Amino acid sequence: MIIQPILDIHTHHPAPCPGAVVCVTPEEFNPLEGQLYSVGIHPWSTLDDISEDTWAQLEQAAAHPQVVAIGECGIDLVKGGPLYRQMQVMKRQIELSESLGKPLVVHCVHAHDIIIGLKKDLQPVQNWAVHGFRGKPTVAKMLTDKGIWLSFGDKYNDSSVREVPAGMLLAETDESDLPISDIITRLSVLVGRDLTKEIEKDSRLFLGLDKPTLSD
Ligand SMILES: [Zn+2]
Repeated sequence: MIIQPILDIHTHHPAPCPGAVVCVTPEEFNPLEGQLYSVGIHPWSTLDDISEDTWAQLEQAAAHPQVVAIGECGIDLVKGGPLYRQMQVMKRQIELSESLGKPLVVHCVHAHDIIIGLKKDLQPVQNWAVHGFRGKPTVAKMLTDKGIWLSFGDKYNDSSVREVPAGMLLAETDESDLPISDIITRLSVLVGRDLTKEIEKDSRLFLGLDKPTLSD
């Protein structure tokens, strides 16, 4: 599979999206040749128990070679099902991420302490990135100190972008109509250096695309 440079770690725009990881639900997963995907169960989908059929669909999709990350999954204290179910659903996706060796794209709304707690308890080996990060610099520091990457879209706290150590910053379009190049240009102006090459390199590192495989 030929992989173009990845700049957009998380988009909900429909495939084909060259240079992006398209995020879909297990039901939506229908891979288009050459497109990279992430697949997961969103915390907003936890109003009811997740059926075993959906889990089976997720597990099958997640194992597909074009799926390079699990998610978005996570914790949302403003919207979604009860916290106990959100945590069950996230934990099962963490296990999937670990067993398949694919990183985790995390949705986190007012729940950074829970995300940090889960990471501390479960000690995952795979990379985690909180996507669409809009929190304050103190929260950005807490997450990056724990080894959690941050991805920025079209809205963010300027000081938080500056707080992210080099090598842990990713970019995304999510649902925005702004092109990823515009988002990266704006982030570059904020940090005072051109981030394009860094984000290209770090997206591959985050996704583990440079890991040697048995076929190499
Ligand atoms: Zn999203």
